[in-house]
Amino acid sequence: EQKRSGKKRPRLFSNDLKEKITASQMILEGLQHAIERKQFYLCYQPILTAKDNVSFAFEALLRWNFNGKLIGPDVFIPLAEKSGLIKEIGAWVLNRACMDANHWQFNQQAAVSVNVSVIQLMDDGFIRLLDNCLRSSGLAPERLHLEVTESTFVENKVKVRQQLEQIQARNIDISIDDFGTGYSSLSQLQSLPVNYVKIDKSFVDNIEGKGEAIIRATLFIARELHYKTIAEGVETKDQAAALSAMGVDYLQGYYFAKPMKNEDLIVWQNPITSIFS
Ligand code: C2E
Ligand code: MG
Ligand code: MG
Ligand code: MG
Repeated sequence: EQKRSGKKRPRLFSNDLKEKITASQMILEGLQHAIERKQFYLCYQPILTAKDNVSFAFEALLRWNFNGKLIGPDVFIPLAEKSGLIKEIGAWVLNRACMDANHWQFNQQAAVSVNVSVIQLMDDGFIRLLDNCLRSSGLAPERLHLEVTESTFVENKVKVRQQLEQIQARNIDISIDDFGTGYSSLSQLQSLPVNYVKIDKSFVDNIEGKGEAIIRATLFIARELHYKTIAEGVETKDQAAALSAMGVDYLQGYYFAKPMKNEDLIVWQNPITSIFS
């Protein structure tokens, strides 16, 4: 390759890597102004009871319209975490989610489930932020759930536990997200102050193979430890039926509903009456 490029000097970075670096710099640059430019919005995805498919909660999923281009949270959340912007962004998400949920006329019981990164959770101001969001929105604390990924529990165990205990003391429920993917040992589970375990989509995808054994093992442990279970990424009728038969408490996935804009929730929840309203 070098010989063929003749007079060109050897490159320090491949073009691929260079493009990646500039792209993430551009995203980071844009991310710094996303709140003031009103480029963020939340979508909500229903979490339903497995038994009768009634909506029990709605997960808030952040969306970023970056000058007409929709950038996914899998791309920008890691950058927000590395740059520290996640604190400001996370505060925006929590405020918005509590406000929206308190106005859900179609369902005054359903909780809003908000993803929280470990950096937010570890922040000393986080509990105060929660109190402020609840107070200014008027949302009952029972209607706010927080989702933290399993990897959260790997480091800073003492501080994480203290924060989670303060959160639970406020009657805010906590879910372990992406369970089974985060390298934490099973024995840690016994002492975690959490209420729900979210079975990761990768196991649901593989439910006809070895995923089934992992799901059954997770359900067994969760039942023994009195955690409720939520399966995520349910895409087919067969998966929904299998998961319900296994005893999963709640289901979430494209089979039931994709994440929707706040204003579209009422139509989904009540398709007939909303035509006339
Ligand atoms: P997550 O919390 O595990 O959310 C589930 C992801 O799976 C969402 O992707 C959701 O749209 C997608 N999903 C749900 N059901 C299905 C399905 O049946 N099939 C498929 N293929 N996908 C499904 P999304 O919205 O792109 O979010 C990706 C991740 O970004 C989330 O994973 C979460 O970790 C993070 N995230 C999203 N919003 C926030 C936020 O406000 N704060 C933080 N810290 N992280 C967030
Ligand atoms: Mg989540
Ligand atoms: Mg998840
Ligand atoms: Mg995930």
